[in-house]
Amino acid sequence: MAYQSGLRLIDIDKSFGNTHAVNSVSFDVSEGEIVALLGPSGSGKSTVLMIISGLEKPDRGDILWNGTSILKTPPHQRAFGMMFQDFVLFPHMDVYENISFGLKMGGQKREKVNEQVEEMLELVGLPGFGARNVHTLSGGEQQRVALARALAPAPKLLMLDEPLGSVDRSLRERLMIELRRILHQMGQTALYVTHDQEEAFTIADRIVVMREGKVEQIGTPQDIYNHPSSLFMAQFLGFKNLLPAEVVDVNKQRIMRTPVGDFPADGINLGKVTVLLRPDSVNMKEHGDSKIAGEVVETTFRGNTSRVTVSVNGKILNFDFPSQYTLPKEGDQVILSFEMSEAVHIFTDHES
Ligand code: ADP
Repeated sequence: MAYQSGLRLIDIDKSFGNTHAVNSVSFDVSEGEIVALLGPSGSGKSTVLMIISGLEKPDRGDILWNGTSILKTPPHQRAFGMMFQDFVLFPHMDVYENISFGLKMGGQKREKVNEQVEEMLELVGLPGFGARNVHTLSGGEQQRVALARALAPAPKLLMLDEPLGSVDRSLRERLMIELRRILHQMGQTALYVTHDQEEAFTIADRIVVMREGKVEQIGTPQDIYNHPSSLFMAQFLGFKNLLPAEVVDVNKQRIMRTPVGDFPADGINLGKVTVLLRPDSVNMKEHGDSKIAGEVVETTFRGNTSRVTVSVNGKILNFDFPSQYTLPKEGDQVILSFEMSEAVHIFTDHES
């Protein structure tokens, strides 16, 4: 296998009794890259993390760092860092002592430690906070100190396990953006574990989506949003306009029968499929190779975009348009046009 800098997981397998927690998982985290491991609860994320850290042994597969297997390297020698949701700071120590803890353990000189702690505090936006008692810090400040503590020893790989899980929503949004900036500024190689799609999309350069122990899709946030690879991915991303359909031959033409009309289906295998009509890829200007007609049920203002709900042959579909457009009102008849190649995804899996 080609040399690659950073982390590489190859075909990792792990079972607990009858539970196949991790099933043939392979992915890379390149040096300086932030990768999110995203999936619902129970999909195997924490087990992957434990295996990378060396706290669990895989049944099969290999883990490489800069092209060399680290499977036999004990956890502490892997020099990877961890930051958890319950990031508990040492309560009897001040901020300085919390951050310098790992550095002193590493046997660094006092002056160098002082310098590094101050640098970390600057980085996380808390200059001069060294002498503060951790009890006097707000939740967001504690989170930043925890991050500074995790970053200070310059781990080769920093693994963050739902680090913002217990932070309230408004603070979380700010911290997500800050976290990404700080990790990138440090050139920190990071694996960010979350079940929260928005967090993964905001923070990561690439996302590895897990489902029932397997990798479902890997890509940049844009790739994944624009090209969900399966019905599961489409549902996981929150897409709603999913239609049961069937690909059939009629008069030597291959077509796709859907509840909102027939569409050409050249090159697609016969049988049942599920069709996603993207909410963001239709227009009311008759641009495109396909169209559907329906009646507007509701138009809802949602800030930058407005949602237009349309009933097409009794099927309810939602579409998003920029709010500055002149939008149709309840009861209006509309024609929605689109390019098949942009607006329609066909998944071979279907709900039976
Ligand atoms: P996630 O982190 O995505 O929530 P986990 O890796 O924790 O998923 O769990 C994956 C599956 O493996 C789950 O079904 C879980 O119950 C099971 N599992 C994880 N750790 C153990 C363990 N130590 N013993 C038995 N089953 C486990």
